[in-house]
This record gives sequence, structure tokens and C-alpha cells, in this order.
Amino acid sequence: MSSGLVIVFKVLTCLVAEHDHRLVLVAAMVCFGGCFTAFKLYSRMRDASSRGMRMAWVLLTGLVAGCSIWATHFIAMLAYTTGLRVGFLPTGTLASLLIAAVFMAGAFGAAASVRGAAGKIAGGVLTGIGVSAMHYIGMSAYVTEGVMSWDLGLVAVSMSLGFAGGVGALFVADQARTLPRQLLGGLVLTLAICSVHFIGMGAITITPDPSVDVPAQLLSSVMMTVSVALIVSLIILGGLGAVLIEGGVNAQSLARTRRLADAAYEGIVVTRADRIQDANAAFCALAGSSVADLIGLRLASDILTFDAVEGGVLDGRREGRLRPRDGSSEIPIEAFGRVIEAGGDQGDLMVLAIRDLRERRSAEEKIRYLAEHDGLTGLANRNVMQTRLNQAIGQVSTADEQLAVICIDLDHFKEANDLHGHLAGDAILTEIARRLQRAVVAPSFAARLGGDEFVVVQIGGGPQPTASAELSATLLEILAQPVSYADQDLPVGASLGISLYPDDGTTGEGLLAAADMALYRAKEGGRGAYCFFKREMDENIRERRTLARELRTAIAAEELVLHYQPLARAEDGEVCGFEALVRWNHPTRGMVAPLDFIPIAEESGLILPLGEWVLRRACADAANWDKPLRIAVNLSPVQLHQTTLAATVHEILLETGLAPRRLELEVTESALFKDYQRALDNLRRLKALGVRIAMDDFGTGFSSLSTLQSFPFDKIKIDKSFVENIHRHDRATAIVRAVLSLGRSLEIPVTAEGVETAEQLEFLRSEACTEVQGYAIGRPAPLHTLSDWTDEIIEPVRKVDVA
Ligand code: C2E
Ligand code: MG
Ligand code: MG
Repeated sequence: MSSGLVIVFKVLTCLVAEHDHRLVLVAAMVCFGGCFTAFKLYSRMRDASSRGMRMAWVLLTGLVAGCSIWATHFIAMLAYTTGLRVGFLPTGTLASLLIAAVFMAGAFGAAASVRGAAGKIAGGVLTGIGVSAMHYIGMSAYVTEGVMSWDLGLVAVSMSLGFAGGVGALFVADQARTLPRQLLGGLVLTLAICSVHFIGMGAITITPDPSVDVPAQLLSSVMMTVSVALIVSLIILGGLGAVLIEGGVNAQSLARTRRLADAAYEGIVVTRADRIQDANAAFCALAGSSVADLIGLRLASDILTFDAVEGGVLDGRREGRLRPRDGSSEIPIEAFGRVIEAGGDQGDLMVLAIRDLRERRSAEEKIRYLAEHDGLTGLANRNVMQTRLNQAIGQVSTADEQLAVICIDLDHFKEANDLHGHLAGDAILTEIARRLQRAVVAPSFAARLGGDEFVVVQIGGGPQPTASAELSATLLEILAQPVSYADQDLPVGASLGISLYPDDGTTGEGLLAAADMALYRAKEGGRGAYCFFKREMDENIRERRTLARELRTAIAAEELVLHYQPLARAEDGEVCGFEALVRWNHPTRGMVAPLDFIPIAEESGLILPLGEWVLRRACADAANWDKPLRIAVNLSPVQLHQTTLAATVHEILLETGLAPRRLELEVTESALFKDYQRALDNLRRLKALGVRIAMDDFGTGFSSLSTLQSFPFDKIKIDKSFVENIHRHDRATAIVRAVLSLGRSLEIPVTAEGVETAEQLEFLRSEACTEVQGYAIGRPAPLHTLSDWTDEIIEPVRKVDVA
């Protein structure tokens, strides 16, 4: 017989003849239960969140595995029936238990902490040592009525099977992540333990010897078996319970994590080697598919397309597109990827957050649209118009063609807006925009610059200026049609200014400025017309600019002078005051009249220092007169809207020492209109200083009567256009008469301006006019010529000879 067969025969004989089969079965079951539980515990070690937790798992695994091996041995020993009395020495028995527990803890601990085959082999070797040591130390505590002899060959075989089985169990179980792995690992380890035990038992030959003393046993073998089996089962159940509870907690926290992930607004997807492992609800919704259908798909090729990215390289932030599985259109997305576990040959485990960019994109588009278009009419706005105009200039210049810029200003827009409200104004603007868009053929285009200003750029419309003249005539016609709004026909109309490339300008800016000047002319020469740009317009504007520039230094250069024109009592011709009228003594142009530079000063804001200079000069001059005559100073609308006006006047009065009641400020009613409230506030403050306020040019404004009602003027000055027509036009005569009687009934003194003839003076006096002013009394003249009126020397009062 070969030695192998001898071993099998010996072991089988031992098992069959010398063991209680039922107890052997119990031992095997206890062993398998323990080993399976040990592998379940082992699977937890790797996931332990801390070193302490991992240590606890290692100890628990060692305890369960060690106790199981020990119990297997113990029960199997009880199943070993030789007919002789047996007993167990407590020290060896206990030591074997401890050794089993310690080595098994070491074995599983090593396998869990050292990656790959090395850990498994180390663990297997420790298992082999533990199982063998447990068995043979346990056997050394076994006492029976005889002498034991050992077949050392079989001992060696049993031990090597212990080592091989230990290593094998760890290899088949691998990480013991799944139930089959845990069962398989448990089974192989059980076989290893049973092999060590039963082959070890086969190696024993007992020669009975009654002289060997066996201590009396307190418990029966059956009771012992049941007790050991029970205790070990409890330990195994404890270990199993721990795994299950922890698994439950894990499952709960997993469910919580999933709920959290599902609540996330962003899509979250987990991949390994680009294959989808899991996804949250948001990702499923984006991908138009269920998790089950998504799992296993390749993220970077089946679902996402990244710009300039190969395969599964998704770490970091990327933009791309997502192709939903349900065939709906692609979704722009942004992905943030992070490797959470470098997986070696299995591929990296990654988490990707996928953000739907549709809303952001559409918001961006909206912003871009708003930035480029006029919100109300949808036409291109000023910025886009300028860009497109410059592009068009570039194109036509290379093609040696012309283009036209047509500036459009609506004629009755402001009235309609004031009269019918902003909604009516909006309706007009949208309707005008619609008409322009219909009239203009691409590549020509229309734009709204703001307010009621529009621009049409005519590109490739044919030879110029014919093409733009034709287009402008058409535009005038279609823009003259009334706009219906709320069952009314609102009158509209337009004025147009045209400039041509390259004749009138070679840049967008230049062409627009030229068209704008032409528009100004079109409006001046009666509305509802178009006007081409001409060189002279440019010269006119240039001239104004030069004047504005020169005016800037005029005050400091003391080029401004005041002339004074007397105001006399109509009744007896007694001079009662003077009006200060500014002149510009220009070094090359000579004396410039205020009407030629006051508007320029108003446009450039220079009117403020200029006006202040006039006030200071006039007050200072008047303060030096012997007689306390009044001094009238004209205020510009710009000054009247300055919040600091009253303070400035106050300061000047203090500075010059002029009594406030001697100062008379003249304002025109149109000056009040821009900001009625602020102008009235200013007038009230001035009046509170004790200064008199006169309404200048009465009758030329918009609603003279209502202006009179809103503020208690100290004087009304009838405009010279009425006075010069006294006796020439009945209407003018009637108006002057009416104003004089109005003044009487309101108890406001009335001054007639521009009185040039004795007849006019006679008429005014017969109509009880209060004061007169004009060439018939005296022309505006320099200060030094006034002494006859202002000084006390000649006679108390100088009267004007009106006869
Ligand atoms: P205004 O305040 O109505 O001044 C009267 C204008 O009529 C003066 O013209 C005066 O020379 C002129 N005038 C006086 N009597 C007669 C007359 O009998 N016949 C005719 N045809 N004209 C007469 P001026 O000095 O050219 O001033 C024109 C306007 O310029 C003034 O009209 C006033 O509105 C403005 N202005 C003059 N000086 C100043 C000033 O210092 N500040 C401001 N803001 N405006 C001023
Ligand atoms: Mg005046
Ligand atoms: Mg006047």
C-alpha cells in the first residue's frame, strides 16, 4: 500500500470506528458557522472608518474564529470514543483557546491590511500555525487511560493541510464582499480545520494503561458538548449579529446618502473605469433613463460628449453635452469629476457632478440679446448699430461702394407722450420700429438709439444720393401715418437727416455726427422733411465749438462787459432802475450780442460761472450808485434749476452790500418748465431773501396765465414783439391792453419792453402801464454813461423827456 492510501485508511478508520458521528456533525457545523461568520466580519475590516474600529473588527474576528476552532476541537474530542476514561487538563485547554483566538486575529488582520497575495499568504500561514498549535496544544491537555504514540508523518500532513487550507480559504474568499465568497471561504477554512483535527487524530495510537491517572469528570460528555456548542454558538451569533447590525446601519446610512443624492439639484453619477455604477434621480432625469438601465453604460461615450477629451479622462471640470437615452435633444452640461478611489487594474472609482447648463445658457442668451437690442422695440441698440455700421463701412470700402446713414427723429412724440401717457408713447415707438423694419431690406438695417431717435443704415441700395433720397421719401410717408392707440389716431411724423459714405465721413462716428447735423437742419427748416448733410453745417457747428472754447477763457480774460438799460415810470418818465445786459467784447470779433453766446454757454454749462459773474458785477455796480435805483438781472433756465442759486444770490448780496429789495431777477416762463417744482422752490427761496422776481418776455411762453397763478411775481414784462406792433396789428394792441388790465386786477405792476416810439409810449401811458423800457427811454449803455441818472449831482430825479 502506498503511504497516501495508508494515511486515508488510517484517518477513515479513526473517523468511522472511533468517533460518534452525530457529534462529528455538530463539530463540523459549529466549525462552518464560525468560519463563515469570521469571513463576514473580515469583510467589514476594510471599510472600517478608523484604526480603532478596524482593531475592534480584527479582535472580534479572532475571537469568533478562535472559539469556533477550539469548540470544533473540543466537540470532536468528545466525539472520540476509545472506551477509555478521558479528561482535559484545564491549563492546556485554555491555552489552546487563547492561541487559536490570537493567531486567527493575526491571520485575518494581516490579510486585511496587506494588499494582494502577500497578505493572503501571510494570513494563511498564521491560520496554519494557529489551527495546528491549537490542535496539538489542545491534545497535550488530553488525558486518557493509556499511552499516546504519534505518527509524525501524519502530523506533518495535518499541519501542511492546515497551512494550505488557510491560504486557500483567504484566496477563495478574496475580500469576502459577497455571500458566495464568504460561504466559500468559510467552507475551505472548515475543511482545513477538520483536516488538521481528524488527520491529527488519525496520527494517534493509544495503548491502554490503567496506571495513568485520569481526573474525574464533573460533567457528562453530552452535557459538555451541548454546553460548549451553546457557548460557541452564542459567540458566533454575537459576531454575526454585530455584522448584521452594522450592515443595517450601513444600509440605513446608504439609504440616507441616496436620499441626499436624490435631493441634489445636480446630477450625480458614480463610475468605475467609465462604466456607470450608480446615479441619482437628477442624473436619471437628465439622461432620460432609469438607474437600472444606466448601470453598466460607458459614461463618456454612451451619454456624454466632452469637447477635446479622450475616453474616460474626466477628472476636474469640463463642459460638454449630454445625449439623453430617450432621444430628446442634447443638453449642454458642465461636469465636475473626482477620483474617490484609485482602483488599479479595476479602474478608478469616480464621482461626477453633472450640471444642466440650459438655464444658464438661455439666461446668457437673454443677457446678450438685451445687451444688443432695444428692450422695447427689439431693434438693434446703439452699441450694435455702431459695430454693424463700422463693419459695413469696412465692406463697402473694399468694394468701392457707398452707404447712407439716416438719422430719424419723431415729430410729435413728446406731445403724445405728455398728453396720452407713457403707454401711448411706447405704442408709437413699437409701431414706428415695426414700420422701419418692414421698409428696410437687408443688409440695410434699422436701430433705436434711445428716446425717439432712430437710425437706418442703408447698404447696397444703389447709387447715392438717389437711393437714400428715395428711401427717405418712403420713410417720411410711412412714418406720417397716424398710430392707432386706444381707439384714437395719434399723429406722428418724422424729420430725417442723411449723411453719405465716403463723401460726408469715413468713420461710423463721423457719419452719425454728420447725419445728426443734417437732422437738426431738417427740424429747423420745418418738420416732416429730410435733409442731406452739407459742409456748411459742419462749419456752423465748428464755429459754435470755437466760440464755446473761447468763452471758457473770456471771464478770466475780463472780456465780458455789462451794459445797462434804464427802466422808467410810464406816468412821468422817472428812471427807477436798470436792466443789466451782458456783452462779450471779443478780441477779434468785436462786441458779441448775448443771443449769440448765451445759448452756447447754456449748452456747455459755462452759463453758471457767467451768470454768477453778471450777478456779482451788476450788484456791485448798483451798490455804488448814489440813488437806490433797482437793478434787474436776467437768469438763465440753467441757473434757475441750480439748487445752490438762492445761496449764491444771498452771498453776493452780503458781499456787495446791495439791499435785497433793489435786486430784481428776470426769469422767462419757459425757464420754469424743465423741472417746475425745483424752479418754483428756487423762486420761493429767492423771494424769501427779499429779492423781487419779474416774469420776462410775457406772452411768448406756453401757458403764461397758469404760470402767473403758480407764483406771486412782482412784475410782468410784456414782450417787445407785442409792443412793436401796437397800432400796427389790432390783435397785438388788444393783447397789450389785456395784459395791462390783467396786471391791474392781479395788482402786479407791468413793464412794457422795446418801447421805441412816442406813440407806443403814449398808448401805454393811457392804458396805465406801470413802467416802460426801450430805445425811446434809453439804449443799453456802459456803466460810466449812467451818472446822469444814478448820481445826485444835477437834480433830485432826472426825467425822460417824453413829449
Ligand atoms: P431781454 O431780457 O428781454 O432783454 C431785452 C433785450 O431787448 C436786450 O437785448 C435789449 O438790448 C433789447 N432791447 C431793449 N430795448 C429795445 C428796443 O426798444 N427795441 C429793440 N428792438 N430791442 C430792445 P440784448 O441785450 O441783445 O439781450 C437779449 C437777451 O439776452 C435778453 O433778453 C436776455 O434774455 C438775454 N440776456 C442778456 N443779458 C443776459 C444775462 O446777463 N444773463 C442771461 N441769462 N441772459 C441775458
Ligand atoms: Mg430781461
Ligand atoms: Mg425781455
